[in-house]
Amino acid sequence: MSVRTKIVWEYAPAPESTDHVRLREDYGLFIGGEFRAPLDGRREPTINPATEEPIAQVAWAGEADLRAAVEAARGAQSAWAALPGRERGKYLFRIARLIQERARELAVVETMDGGKPLRESRDVDVPLAAAHFFHYAGWADKLSYGVGGRSVAPMGVVGQIVPWNFPLLMAAWKLAPALACGNTAILKPAETTPLTALLLAEIIQEAELPAGVVAIVPGDGATGAALVRSEGIDKFAFTGSTGVGRDIQAALAGKKIGLTLELGGKSANIVFEDAALDQAVEGIVNGIFFNQGHVCCAGSRLFIQESVADEVVTKLWDRMGRLRVGDPLDKNTDVGAINSAEQLERIEALVAAGEEEGAVRRSIACDVPERGYWFAPTLLTEVSPAHRVAVEEIFGPVVSVLTFRTQAEAIEKANNSRYGLAAGIWTDKGAKAFEVASALQAGVIWQNTYNHFDPTAAFGGYKESGFGREGGPAGLRPYLRVS
Ligand code: NAD
Repeated sequence: MSVRTKIVWEYAPAPESTDHVRLREDYGLFIGGEFRAPLDGRREPTINPATEEPIAQVAWAGEADLRAAVEAARGAQSAWAALPGRERGKYLFRIARLIQERARELAVVETMDGGKPLRESRDVDVPLAAAHFFHYAGWADKLSYGVGGRSVAPMGVVGQIVPWNFPLLMAAWKLAPALACGNTAILKPAETTPLTALLLAEIIQEAELPAGVVAIVPGDGATGAALVRSEGIDKFAFTGSTGVGRDIQAALAGKKIGLTLELGGKSANIVFEDAALDQAVEGIVNGIFFNQGHVCCAGSRLFIQESVADEVVTKLWDRMGRLRVGDPLDKNTDVGAINSAEQLERIEALVAAGEEEGAVRRSIACDVPERGYWFAPTLLTEVSPAHRVAVEEIFGPVVSVLTFRTQAEAIEKANNSRYGLAAGIWTDKGAKAFEVASALQAGVIWQNTYNHFDPTAAFGGYKESGFGREGGPAGLRPYLRVS
């Protein structure tokens, strides 16, 4: 008789079906309310990073295409702004409802195009994108209440550039407040993840948004740079790396064009000895391994109070061993594919530099598919504050562990960064959390949680993490002229 001495928890594969997804083979540029062939742009395939297979051909906008997009946006702007706010709100409500109706398809396409686990695109990206449109639909007829009762007018035509880590969600963060305020918008998705923005263009058509109010113009950095140089744009909103943000700021210097920048980060996640440690470990995992660490506010610098450092590292390593890495379309997957070959190279190079500088590396053992771009969740200990892995944004599933003795030391070390996007504080003392939060230079600070997003709350950075806020009433301000 065999005696069962141990329960073995195994998962059977649970892949999400892609049968219901009806992608076109070829996507044009969305300009003037219709999909058009590029005038001087070109077509490029978009690749599934988990399989390296092409998914569809996508048109990339050239300068003549961008001129056409600006012309269409300018032509539509005054009529859009002249609509009563409640009418603009109705369009945004419609877009939000259509995102909900197509949620399953959007989630699958987001996962195929970007590599993130389906569990995340289904439970976070898509519902939050709809929530952003709902939220700003509600603001469309209450704009002056959002700015202290003052008079408001739209900026005009806005140019918006987003990165690849939350493609649909970043598009919603940009478009929803801009449209609510009466602007027309030209959105450029990132080169590796244009598909959900193009599905959003279909939704915009279905919502019968007046032609020209939104243009979606995929392309790479050259398209982005050309959009920044385009004549006839009144305001720019950029989310991406600090380096590109700096170039855009320089290109717009001296021009009467509004600018908001949501840039990179190297956020501190601080664990005090009085924290609920098991809960903190879950928060650390969510803080750095969510979306493969491709998160601007990822808790990539983990500060642990010395008295509990060994215990937390042991618990964390044990918990990391249970992360499931692999097929992003599998509903059990925790960590999916790295977004592109270039990003994988960047992560590998920075981690190698960390090891050369003396950090001790532990990566979990995992079987990953033969093709695709993968990086095992990694823990770096023996990290000093001057190491590159403690200073530079890795933008991958890699956490650098540092320690501190006192609260003052934790604050000083956390603030010792050129970035200031987010932070996490783990303690069971409310007063301590408030005291530390008020001393941290970070735009968003979570207490006993991490990576918690809400459309009603402002998000944005300090220092080289950028300026301007997205979300909540604060997110209206960059899209309005206030008098
Ligand atoms: P990136 O700066 O390389 O690209 C971002 C976007 O800018 C893409 O659409 C790209 O095509 C475009 N672009 C590239 N060069 C350009 C140029 N010269 N002019 C105009 N546009 C140009 O960044 P990425 O690698 O796509 O994204 C990762 C970065 O984004 C990370 O640094 C991350 O922290 C940051 N990010 C910040 C936030 C935030 O809210 N603060 C959110 C998500 C991502």
